[in-house]
Amino acid sequence: MMKYDYLIVGAGLYGAVFAHEMAQAGKTSLVIDRRSHVAGNTYTRSVHGINVHEYGAHIFHTSNEEVWAYINRFAKFNHYINSPLAVYKDELYNMPFNMNTFHALWGVRTPEEAQAKIAEQIASLDIGEPQNLEEQALSLVGPDVYEKLIKGYTEKQWGRKCTELPSFIIRRLPLRFTYNNNYFNDIYQGIPIGGYTQIVDRLLDADGITVRLDTDFKDIAEQPDGQGIRIRLAGNTVECERLLYTGAIDEYYDYCYGPLAYRSVRFETEELSKPDFQGNAVVNYTEAFDRDAAEDQQSGKPFTRIIEHKHFEAENNGIDEIPTTIISREYSQEWKPGIEPYYPVNDDENTALYEKYKARATEDEKRGIRFGGRLGHYKYYDMDKVIEAALEAVAAER
Ligand code: UDP
Repeated sequence: MMKYDYLIVGAGLYGAVFAHEMAQAGKTSLVIDRRSHVAGNTYTRSVHGINVHEYGAHIFHTSNEEVWAYINRFAKFNHYINSPLAVYKDELYNMPFNMNTFHALWGVRTPEEAQAKIAEQIASLDIGEPQNLEEQALSLVGPDVYEKLIKGYTEKQWGRKCTELPSFIIRRLPLRFTYNNNYFNDIYQGIPIGGYTQIVDRLLDADGITVRLDTDFKDIAEQPDGQGIRIRLAGNTVECERLLYTGAIDEYYDYCYGPLAYRSVRFETEELSKPDFQGNAVVNYTEAFDRDAAEDQQSGKPFTRIIEHKHFEAENNGIDEIPTTIISREYSQEWKPGIEPYYPVNDDENTALYEKYKARATEDEKRGIRFGGRLGHYKYYDMDKVIEAALEAVAAER
């Protein structure tokens, strides 16, 4: 009978970091993934010399020295700084909210003028401690910014009213009174030159790691008998001491308490025969979209943003070196079985539901089962936080 120390379900960043570190500690891992490629949603694929972020824009940013040093061992990073634009009807704004945005909105030039304008707008509202995303946004930036740059985008992105969403979602975005279009406040930021897939390939390229793609845990799992995890692989029984599961926690437990909500994304990707489509990697379309409104059916923007992939790596130069360009329009949709889950919906209802699954998971920890990653922890993790959490799990295993 074949034996491994770990069965790792999911060859994304969390699973790969965990497997790599365990291999360094002399442990063996069998890493399986139901997809036909590694790297999870960080997967990038080279098309005509352009690294396409197949599952949406991934921009690495962190203030954690250890995580930055760690990821740099597996790829060389460029100096990409994310500076998205926002299009609202026929108006164009810089993101995140900063002096360039405020100047374009109100003609103000100094931080004092911008702060006074926002204070004046907020004064007319009566919001105490913000209870939801709408109140949080209004009390930070006032109604003008909220109406043009937040409300429509957020409701398209989450398919829920801003009054029903948790405020932490909007606190991800910086608010600045300087002329600085950097989307992130972190010390370190960049894109791996050559894409993300190489990082996971290198993490998994270690003695003691076996990778099996196109392999769904559900199809191979045998009833765990308390003595370890038993699976059937290519006609053989394989026994693994412990399990790391980075898929969706509710799916693992057969949705026994009901399904958790996720947002999914549909990408409409096309290659255009011109070197540059939008002059920037990320352009958000912040106006609302009403599928029943005749005007929106004509000229509305049902997508949240357009990503132009070559801009992640070409930076200021080199855009014209490749004669074509690849763009992806992102359409946000509610997750249903059969499509990929992307974003956990961490509202009150789903957080409470997750707590139930987590209680079961805590029980199962005693049997050597551990959950991890965005789907296993049901948490809106950025990549650096995924690595941080994986390294913490490694430390806990040792
Ligand atoms: N957001 C917004 N307007 C924008 C961009 C973002 O209101 O133009 C809000 C929206 O609620 C979104 C949240 O900020 O869900 C976080 O945005 P971020 O770009 O961090 O989301 P991600 O890149 O993870 O999809």
